[in-house]
Amino acid sequence: MKRPTLLVALLCSVAISGFAQAPKQPDRQVAVTIDDLPAGMADRLPAADITAMTTKLLTTLRDQKIPVVGFVNERKLYQPGQVDERIKVLQMWLDYGFELGNHTFNHASLNQVGLKAWEDQVIQGESVTRLLLAQHKMKLRYFRHPYLDTGRDLLTRREAEAFLVDRGYRIAPITLDGWDWMFAGLYEDAKKRNDAEMQQHIVKDYLAYHDAVFAYFEQFSAKIVGYEPKQILLLHASNLEADHIGELLDVLRKRGYRFITLEDALSDSAYSLPDTYVGEGGTDWISHWAITQGKIPPQGPVFPQWVIDRTKELHLSTGTVTAPADPY
Ligand SMILES: [Zn+2]
Repeated sequence: MKRPTLLVALLCSVAISGFAQAPKQPDRQVAVTIDDLPAGMADRLPAADITAMTTKLLTTLRDQKIPVVGFVNERKLYQPGQVDERIKVLQMWLDYGFELGNHTFNHASLNQVGLKAWEDQVIQGESVTRLLLAQHKMKLRYFRHPYLDTGRDLLTRREAEAFLVDRGYRIAPITLDGWDWMFAGLYEDAKKRNDAEMQQHIVKDYLAYHDAVFAYFEQFSAKIVGYEPKQILLLHASNLEADHIGELLDVLRKRGYRFITLEDALSDSAYSLPDTYVGEGGTDWISHWAITQGKIPPQGPVFPQWVIDRTKELHLSTGTVTAPADPY
C-alpha cells in the first residue's frame, strides 16, 4: 500500500485543525439585568464606596456597549447624611445611558408579605426612580420580583400581575442565574481584608460556575422552548461585578452570545409561553415553563460548597435571596 505523502498528511492535519479551531458558534443573545441598586450591600457600604463601585461597573458596561436595566430598592437611599450621594448613584446609571426599573422599596417578597403590603412596596419604590427617569424623558416600565417570588398561589400571582400591568409595568423575568450575590458577599469580605488570594479563588469559581450554569440553561431551555430563547441574565450590583464583570462578559462571548436590550429579549415569543408556576421559592422562568408543562427541571450544576460554608461562617446575609440548598 502506498504511504500518503507528507504533503497529503500535512493538508489533512491543517483541514482537521482548521475545523477544530473554528466550530460554528450558535447565535446566542442575552439581556443583562442588575438588581438591588444602588448596591446589594448598600447598608454596609458608605456612599463614597457605592459611588466608586458604580463608576467602575458602569464604565466597563458603557465601554463594551452592553445594554443594561438596573433594578432599584429605594429604601437603600435613605441613610442619614448620604441621601443625595446615593440618589446621584442612580442618576449615574441614567447619565451613562442605562435604564432603571423597580424592585420594590424594601426588597419585599410577594410570598412573605402578602399582596396588599407588597403592592404598597411597589408604589413606595417608584418615587425617586420615576422622577429621575422623567428627567431623562424615560418612563418607569420594568418590574423585577424580589427573590423572584411571584406568588404562592395562582390567584395572588394573577392579581399581582394585573396590578403591575395597571401601573404600566412589564415584568422582567430571568432565565440565567449563577447566584453571583453569594460570591459577591465573600468577595466583599476578602476585599476589605486585602486578601488577594481569596479574591482570586472566588473569581475563578464565580466564572466557572456561571459558565456551567449557562451551559445548563442553554440545554434546558432548548428542551422546554424548542430552541434557545433570547436569555435574560440576573446579576447584582456589587464590588465583585464592578471588578470582574468584564471577565463574565467574555465567558458569555466565548459561548457565542451577543448583548441585547431587555426590550429585545422580551420580544421573544418564549416569554408568552403558558406559565402557571406557583411555589414557596422563586425560580427562573425556564423552570416556570417546564413545571407548567409537567416537567421536572433537571439537576443543575453543583454550587461550590465552600462558598456556602464560608458564607455561613462569616454570618453573611446579603438580604438578597435565601441560600440555595439546591440551586435549581
Ligand atoms: Zn433582589
